[in-house]
Amino acid sequence: MSKKITKSSSAKSGKFPKASGAKASKLVYSFGGGKADGDGSQKSLLGGKGANLAEMTRIDLPVPPGFTITTDVCTYYYDNKRTYQKELQGQIETAVARMEKLLNKGFGDKNKPLLVAVRSGARDSMPGMMDTILNLGLNDETVVALAKLSNNERFAYDCYRRFIQMYGDVVLGVQKAQGEDHEPFETVIEELKSELFPGEEHVEDTRLDAKGQKELVRRFKKLIKDRTGKEFPHNPWEQLKGAVGAVFGSWMNDRAMVYRRKYNIPHEWGTAVNIQAMVFGNTGDNSGSGVAFTRDPASGEKVFYGEFLINAQGEDVVAGVRTPEPVAKLQAIMPGPFKALDRVRGILEKHFKDMQDFEFTIEEGKLFMLQTRNGKRTGLAAIRIAVEMVKEKLIVPETAVERVPADSLAHVLAPIFDLKAIKDGLFLTKGLPAGPGAASGKIYLNADRAEEAAARGEKVLLVRIETSPEDLRGMIAAEGILTARGGVSSHAALVARQMGKVCVCGAGDLIVNYEQKTVTVKGNTYKEGKDFLSIDGTSGEVYAGQIKTAPSEVVQVLIAKTLDGKKSYTYQCFDQLMKWSDKFRRLQIRANADQPDQTLNAIAFGGQGIGLCRTEHMFFEGDRIDAVREMIIAETKEDRAKAIAKLLPFQKGDFIGLFKALKGLPATIRFLDPPLHEFLPHEEHQMRDLAESLGVSAEKVHARVSSLHESNPMLGHRGCRLGIVYPELSEMQARAVFEAAAEVQKMGIKVKPEIMIPLVGFPKELKLQLEIVHSVAKKVAAEKKVKFDYLVGTMIEIPRAALVADDIAKDAQFFSFGTNDLTQTALGMSRDDSGSFLPYYQEVEIVKNNPFASIDQQGVGKLMKLAIEGGRATRPEIKLGICGEHGGDPSSIKFCHDIGLTYVSCSPFRVPVARLAAAQAALAEKAAAKTKKK
Ligand code: PEP
Ligand code: MG
Repeated sequence: MSKKITKSSSAKSGKFPKASGAKASKLVYSFGGGKADGDGSQKSLLGGKGANLAEMTRIDLPVPPGFTITTDVCTYYYDNKRTYQKELQGQIETAVARMEKLLNKGFGDKNKPLLVAVRSGARDSMPGMMDTILNLGLNDETVVALAKLSNNERFAYDCYRRFIQMYGDVVLGVQKAQGEDHEPFETVIEELKSELFPGEEHVEDTRLDAKGQKELVRRFKKLIKDRTGKEFPHNPWEQLKGAVGAVFGSWMNDRAMVYRRKYNIPHEWGTAVNIQAMVFGNTGDNSGSGVAFTRDPASGEKVFYGEFLINAQGEDVVAGVRTPEPVAKLQAIMPGPFKALDRVRGILEKHFKDMQDFEFTIEEGKLFMLQTRNGKRTGLAAIRIAVEMVKEKLIVPETAVERVPADSLAHVLAPIFDLKAIKDGLFLTKGLPAGPGAASGKIYLNADRAEEAAARGEKVLLVRIETSPEDLRGMIAAEGILTARGGVSSHAALVARQMGKVCVCGAGDLIVNYEQKTVTVKGNTYKEGKDFLSIDGTSGEVYAGQIKTAPSEVVQVLIAKTLDGKKSYTYQCFDQLMKWSDKFRRLQIRANADQPDQTLNAIAFGGQGIGLCRTEHMFFEGDRIDAVREMIIAETKEDRAKAIAKLLPFQKGDFIGLFKALKGLPATIRFLDPPLHEFLPHEEHQMRDLAESLGVSAEKVHARVSSLHESNPMLGHRGCRLGIVYPELSEMQARAVFEAAAEVQKMGIKVKPEIMIPLVGFPKELKLQLEIVHSVAKKVAAEKKVKFDYLVGTMIEIPRAALVADDIAKDAQFFSFGTNDLTQTALGMSRDDSGSFLPYYQEVEIVKNNPFASIDQQGVGKLMKLAIEGGRATRPEIKLGICGEHGGDPSSIKFCHDIGLTYVSCSPFRVPVARLAAAQAALAEKAAAKTKKK
């Protein structure tokens, strides 16, 4: 065993192609033997994995030695036609030599070969999106040495065939061709298994002996030669060059790009590459690999959570090919390593002060840590962990608020199955609960077809034997994901959880037949595109058909009021987080609501008033639409006045309902906005019915409908243009507001109406409408002998309004940004029709996000800033808000905070998200000010 290590000398043929003129810098950071060049703070340079490997090494955790190639190299690689800085080769050789020395092994050494893992590692983790290669350094010679050293030929050839498989797939591109449902290497494995074990199904890999593994090596090499025309490379340096290039290359693969787009990770960040000495979980029954979490990532409960596989490498656990055992079972099987692992669990949380998701390997009873990172978690878990960590004094409330992604609150409000419906449903089987919530959908067995069906408007449930990262698009499109194999830390589970998708994994009773496009479970067969299944991602249960869903616990406490808050721990954590948020935020949160029940929901969620009441929604209620139509059909002022008079009591009743629900909170009431033809019938028989009910001729209705037809209604006779041409309409609406206000005030309830005039572009438009509002207010005040506390303002929703905001502010007491229309008019892009090209615009990165979901800060945002500047120049105390859909989008909320709005208004169910996002914006501002001071 004391053979001399031959230093790696064959590096020449595997050299990294270099570019000229690069300046010297540190591109490679070593770690191992208790020392590390980098540390945990260097995530942008070393990636999350590299930085934390360095940090774990520094705190003396058992980390196999290795080195990290920085993200700067990735950036350089893409900026310089896929070449590297000239000093890279030398730095890698030095780092490899350091590993060789620490381990007394040699890269390519025929007696004591150093084998390495090559892994990606971006600043933010992108689970499974990029490539990994294990067991690198093996070839026909080193495998013999490994067999000898381990005294385990089967193990050595198992490693070798895995390496060829990964290398063939990732570096040489031997992958699933179009129309193939299985990876070609997996097909080879299955073929060999059926030759060796005829008639047996689900043969475990572990049953392939050394001879079988050797045969796989032979067949894999042949597969590579057949598909690529090239031999599998034997020089370890050439292997390393290929692997590093492939990992950098995988930064730009389709699934990584889709993932980055979804999670707003900039392409410029690049990935680091980590090269680390291999440790083996597959040497036999005294070894294993696992993935664990310091707390339960689904519920947030403080329990040791995770899973492991005996005699397996880490990839087996995350890829979900075999269903692993829960980590708690390790205690009985390997008490020593379990104790070490549990100790590490405690150290990690204390050190990183966040829930950690870590990978470990046990090699012949010895524990090694391969990775740690802040664990992805469900919204439910995020809240519970944040709140409990404050109680445990690990973090302060500010950190708790910063840490919970605002959008993830939506998960906590997600529906669950109706308990009664579950009882009546047909229970099929149980898998692992991997992403909470309830989902029903038509089953689809392929991601592309699932995506297409969802685009057609179908509710889709993606069912797979196991998912791979290529399924990402299908997973995004689906209501939920169901797999037959794989554990709670498989890619399917991680990605689903993060997306807030309902997910059940490893439902082993499912027989998924890709050819027949069917799923069979316990004798019942379900067809793709036809049959529904329902899954409960909280319990793991699978049901036949479509099961009714019920509101979440928080919704049951706050909205349905069917559950006592004291009995719901989830609610209590949610409530605590909301209370902290309210303490830190500056922005007020209002809701877009048109009805008393919506208003009550908004208030229950913490809304501080109505930011937009779209009065036209009230016109569709009950039989008042008849009066609306009568008003539109009317040809004379008198006839119109008569119809409008019929509307007054309805409208007044609506406002009474709102004011009572608001109990003194403000209500921004917008006057009629849509083009009138939206209220008219367009079908022939409907027009006839209308003519009959109004006692006019069908021709008259016809003529009026066609005279109201507009080619471009969104830019036509709508908004304040209606009240300008038909002032009696605005008069009626103003009267309804003030008569309702007078009545509710008399009940002893405060009323704060804020009347808002839509689509103003010319200051005079506002002036004319304002005169109507003030004169009606005066009249009603005199008639009812009351005083009103009210404001009149305008929406800023067309560019001209933003440009002349200083003039408009002479009359407007407030501005509310109607960013739906402002986006539409500033971009010249229809909010209704842009769906046909916007996704492509996002794909080719003309726009980073959908501008109708997240404010286009450079364009629309600039108009907003201009309007604020103008408004404040005239009226320094002007109240500023936003009521477009962007008011519920966290990044837009941050922008609104930064430009100094008073409030954001969003849909009632988004109010909690907005409260949290507003607090995060305030805390970010504070943190930025602190950094500046330093
Ligand atoms: C807007 O344009 O942003 C707005 C809130 O008004 P609506 O969506 O009703 O046009
Ligand atoms: Mg609008």
